[in-house]
Amino acid sequence: MTEAPKESNERDERSNAGGSLNFIEQIVEEDIAAGKNGGRVHTRFPPEPNGYLHIGHAKSICLNFGLADKYSGQTNLRFDDTNPVTEDTEYVDSIKNDVRWLGFEWENEYYASDYFDQLYRFAETLIQKGLAYVDDSTAEEIAAQKGTPTEPGRMNQYRDRSVDQNLDLFRRMKAGEFSDGSKVLRAKVDMASPNMQLRDPIMYRIKHAHHHRTGDTWCIYPMYDFAHGQSDAIEHITHSLCTLEFEVHRPLYEWFIQQLDIFPSRQIEFARLNLTYTVMSKRKLKQLVEEGHVSGWDDPRMPTIAGIRRRGYTPASIREFCDRIGIAKRDNLIDVGLLEFCIREELNKTTPRVMAVLDEKPLRLVITNYELGREEELNIENNPEEETMTYRRVPFSREVYIERDDFMENPPKKFFRLFPGGMVRLKGAYIIKCDEVVKDNAGEIIELRCSYIPESRSGSDTSGINVKGTIHWVSVPHAVEAEVRLYDRLFSVENPAADEREFRELLNPNSLEVVRAFVEPALVEAARSGSQTNFQFMRKGYFILDSDSTAERPVFNRTVTLKDGWAKEQKKG
Ligand code: ATP
Ligand code: MG
Repeated sequence: MTEAPKESNERDERSNAGGSLNFIEQIVEEDIAAGKNGGRVHTRFPPEPNGYLHIGHAKSICLNFGLADKYSGQTNLRFDDTNPVTEDTEYVDSIKNDVRWLGFEWENEYYASDYFDQLYRFAETLIQKGLAYVDDSTAEEIAAQKGTPTEPGRMNQYRDRSVDQNLDLFRRMKAGEFSDGSKVLRAKVDMASPNMQLRDPIMYRIKHAHHHRTGDTWCIYPMYDFAHGQSDAIEHITHSLCTLEFEVHRPLYEWFIQQLDIFPSRQIEFARLNLTYTVMSKRKLKQLVEEGHVSGWDDPRMPTIAGIRRRGYTPASIREFCDRIGIAKRDNLIDVGLLEFCIREELNKTTPRVMAVLDEKPLRLVITNYELGREEELNIENNPEEETMTYRRVPFSREVYIERDDFMENPPKKFFRLFPGGMVRLKGAYIIKCDEVVKDNAGEIIELRCSYIPESRSGSDTSGINVKGTIHWVSVPHAVEAEVRLYDRLFSVENPAADEREFRELLNPNSLEVVRAFVEPALVEAARSGSQTNFQFMRKGYFILDSDSTAERPVFNRTVTLKDGWAKEQKKG
């Protein structure tokens, strides 16, 4: 086992570090001990259905569902669908699929849009209490009046409208009498508050847009701040976990709860997950998809759950990763090497070692003393890590492919692979010796003529000969031609989000390499039947069959290399 890359979180903030509680668990336990909510723990995962989930969401999912699990509570899946323009049922479906795939089942499936009537009534209540008003200012005027963190905002004439006037205008906003952007409903809090969020935040805006669930029923839609906390309260969510940027919204969250006298959900903030060499914003990921920088939301280079799944990651490896990074109170950047470590650890234990020759032009090796037309089925062990060893049948014949890199005509010292006059073991088969190199007119090597040692067969070797090198191979008449996709980091800089350059300029132009391969027939069958999905291609990395495979040509994605070659590459420059 190799050592996991270090994370930057401090120890006292780590979840499960030494069995101690993370800060959110501490809060929850204090609440339980104080008898709050009758000891009940109810969380929610509240995605906006405006894109596919990414690994950052996985952290939030693991946290919310994990907490409910730990304290025998419940978790709702709530779609925060208050912006009709950007939301779509395609995203709703993908989100549900991804949460389930990660291994979690929600207690209730809710939509903020289910609460539009209730939220509307809440808004009228605030108007009646003199705590909300209709403002005719333009977005620019509102921004200009808002002031700055050091300078108080200015109150405008609309702030003094009477309750009756406000009720009338708000009802007419709802009835569709006004155009988009011509009016908003604002909470009357405090234009001089040092917290900008409290300077009369907008509660409702006019949008004559079709909503994926409510259709054309509404032309006014609540803002995040007026929908989120109220939805939490309606569902009696006890602990509402969100990312740090909402910390400054918390006073407003509490203000609405207090003024409406509704269920007091408690908002707690934690640090977002950021990963090296990628971006973690749906908006940016969407741009990559729409502009064709990647093949789709599920491109295996994407940090989306769909992409990571297609890449060959398992739910357990992602949960393990989320567990290891823990919960922090300060934003940090996690080394993607840790994610890779988690999947490597798992696949090392679970995958069969199979042989695939990854080469546009593999070398044909002819074993001249192996009878013409003879074939045998060798028993090759699947995985030395297994408790009870299993084997598979691998066809062997007079001609095999090897990778060009496994042969050198003029080898340096300590080259343990094949060279003229040299010997290697063909993995799971025989020791062979290279007798002759055959070239074409252009001087390119097209074939190696070799001889084998019959008594050197793996498992029953009586040859008395020791060789240093073992190379993998695939029998030519049995080989299945495949396409193999080798992935590298999507971005060429560690933290694209913090870079002043435009993020699309930072894309790694070599993030995808497509190569031809020849693979063992049995692994293609196993992959197609679904009996075995992940493999270790010996000496090459971990791979999974891709959905782009056709009947003629299987396609494999490399999930991760066998070792972390990236750090070394970087040092070499
Ligand atoms: P993005 O900026 O990528 O669009 P978002 O926060 O707008 O993300 P939502 O769909 O609103 O996306 O997020 C659903 C939940 O997932 C929220 O509770 C949010 O705080 C959480 N979440 C989103 N991104 C991350 C992240 N990188 N790390 C941890 N939690 C996250
Ligand atoms: Mg959001």
